[in-house]
Amino acid sequence: MNLHEYQSKEIFARYGIPVPQGQLAASPEQARAAAKQLGGEKFVVKAQVHAGGRGKAGGVKLVEGFDAVEEAAKKMLGQRLVTKQTDAAGLPINSVWVEKPSGIARELYVAGLVDRSRERIVFMASAAGGMDIEEVAEHTPEKIKRIFVHPAAGLQPYQARELGFFMDLTKEQVDQFTKIMQGLYRIATECDASMVEVNPLIVTTEGNVMALDAKLNFDTNALYRQKEIAGMRDPSQEDEAEREASKFDLNYVTLGGDIGCMVNGAGLAMATMDIVKLHGGKPANFLDVGGGTTAEKVTEAFKLITRSPEVKAIFINIFGGIVRCDLIAEGIIQACKQTGLKIPVVARLQGTNMEKGRDMLNASGLKITPVSDLTEAAKTVVALAKSA
Ligand code: ADP
Ligand code: MG
Repeated sequence: MNLHEYQSKEIFARYGIPVPQGQLAASPEQARAAAKQLGGEKFVVKAQVHAGGRGKAGGVKLVEGFDAVEEAAKKMLGQRLVTKQTDAAGLPINSVWVEKPSGIARELYVAGLVDRSRERIVFMASAAGGMDIEEVAEHTPEKIKRIFVHPAAGLQPYQARELGFFMDLTKEQVDQFTKIMQGLYRIATECDASMVEVNPLIVTTEGNVMALDAKLNFDTNALYRQKEIAGMRDPSQEDEAEREASKFDLNYVTLGGDIGCMVNGAGLAMATMDIVKLHGGKPANFLDVGGGTTAEKVTEAFKLITRSPEVKAIFINIFGGIVRCDLIAEGIIQACKQTGLKIPVVARLQGTNMEKGRDMLNASGLKITPVSDLTEAAKTVVALAKSA
């Protein structure tokens, strides 16, 4: 689960990480009032969406005067912001963060996340922070240094200093940076953050180290014990289909292609994506209906898939082990009747009660092509999507 920049900065401040002073606004008038309260002449107006890359997309504006703050907020609010990190539809801007500008001498980068293979938290830092860190990682990875935190020992000050000196910070700045690192590490461990990112971490013109941007991501499985953070969730920033799917306990991820997939089991779902791609198709989604699914869940899953206008064909790939194929067929038929199926469906049902399931589909009179071979099923659905 993601948070907005302003929420992440609130947490940063609580853990002793210096951040610019700012205020949230949901209307142009509120933005003006926020600027008045902050005082001064110049302000930064920042669109609050769950994505980075806002600076380059017009979502961060440095302005002078209260009128300009109001104007900038008016232009952003109610719009959708499309950045390198969003899809083509972008994310809705429902609020802006009005902030005091900082004089920037240097833009650095620091982030921590869980390294699953090493089973510990890794921190990485670079002197080449700012809006192009992705390019740095791709073309000059030697400009990024990593340290690994032993879970029993915790983050050691010498490790933070190592990163600080790597970024050419002065002795005083390294001390400030070490405090920031300790705050980030505590957030990662105490709040169950799966990612903490500061880009840019700046050295101000006065020579102080400060977090100018803040990005936190949390482990959804830990939200039961992070009630406050769970309460900061903003559903408006989440994919609607994914949100709907979570209500029914379905594992659903929107992918942007045109072949809707309904599969049981995460492994089979991955294999299904692969084989669709292998034969030149593009999956519209990943969907694992789970092992012990019910006809109702299948109905909901089917409705989710057919809701997207991009979906040109549907591929059902079910291996009936725990789940029975006739039950899946029942769910499909129910869903088709409720939604009025208009696109072709290729169904591969294997395993328990597969004959019964296939007979039910055949007898339903719906546009469903049963195929038992996986390769042939994938080829068929790709061809159907292409000819649609
Ligand atoms: P994003 O990562 O989404 O592009 P940032 O918060 O990193 O958004 O802002 C982009 C850039 O805007 C920063 O790299 C920095 O140069 C500038 N900026 C952001 N906030 C401030 C601020 N308070 N004062 C001065 N410049 C800022
Ligand atoms: Mg940033």
